[in-house]
Amino acid sequence: MSILENLRRVQEQIAETACRSGRDPEEIKLVAVTKTVPVGKMQEVLGAGVYSLGESRVQELLRKCPHFPAEVEWHFIGHLQSNKVRNIIDQVKLIHSLDRWSLAIEIDRRAREKNLVMPVLVQVNVAREAYKHGLPVNDVRPFLEKVARLPGLSVQGLMTMAPLVPHPEEARPVFRELRLLAKRLAASVPGVMMKYISMGMSNDFAVAVEEGSNIVRIGTAIFNNRR
Ligand SMILES: *Cc1c(COP(=O)(O)O)cnc(C)c1O
Repeated sequence: MSILENLRRVQEQIAETACRSGRDPEEIKLVAVTKTVPVGKMQEVLGAGVYSLGESRVQELLRKCPHFPAEVEWHFIGHLQSNKVRNIIDQVKLIHSLDRWSLAIEIDRRAREKNLVMPVLVQVNVAREAYKHGLPVNDVRPFLEKVARLPGLSVQGLMTMAPLVPHPEEARPVFRELRLLAKRLAASVPGVMMKYISMGMSNDFAVAVEEGSNIVRIGTAIFNNRR
């Protein structure tokens, strides 16, 4: 299958799942995850109107950026080292992976240097997997209360990666918990927006959409780029 055929199939599945769940397909953003994908292949999705691209490494993002028009929205979805923040701060539309206070401080500092307010999502390790980044569920509220005082960044929601499970259905409780957490926080932490819930990847995005995701991050199902 070609990239465009894959893409169309993913888009159809998102739309069908949304409709079945009583949701408007328009409210779900598809971020095409392009890590390890060569620039030429990435450009194919622009032709189909997908301008939101996700990268997980700073070097790779910076190398690819100049090959794309300014309308492309870059999403940073990987683990972010503090010393690389200044390189991407004015290149990316949304950082999905804020997971610690030292990183928040650095984003705040670099954003203010450039007179901008950086939109971020807080990454949550819902399933408490030892090898995964993200805050444990119970730490999210106190973290948000602190981060809300930093003028250089704006928390716009939460992100999670579900455990890799044989059947996507098994990821459902993780997605549900993230959505409920976002709902509780939106109602109770002043100054915090819970506009985006970034969850769902190639093998579990349908379940994530059923559970309220409004940003899905999809690589392999579009580009066949599994490492
Ligand atoms: C690689 C990656 C994805 C996409 O995963 P696929 O299974 O290829 O769709 C999504 N989110 C993050 C954080 C990733 O690193």
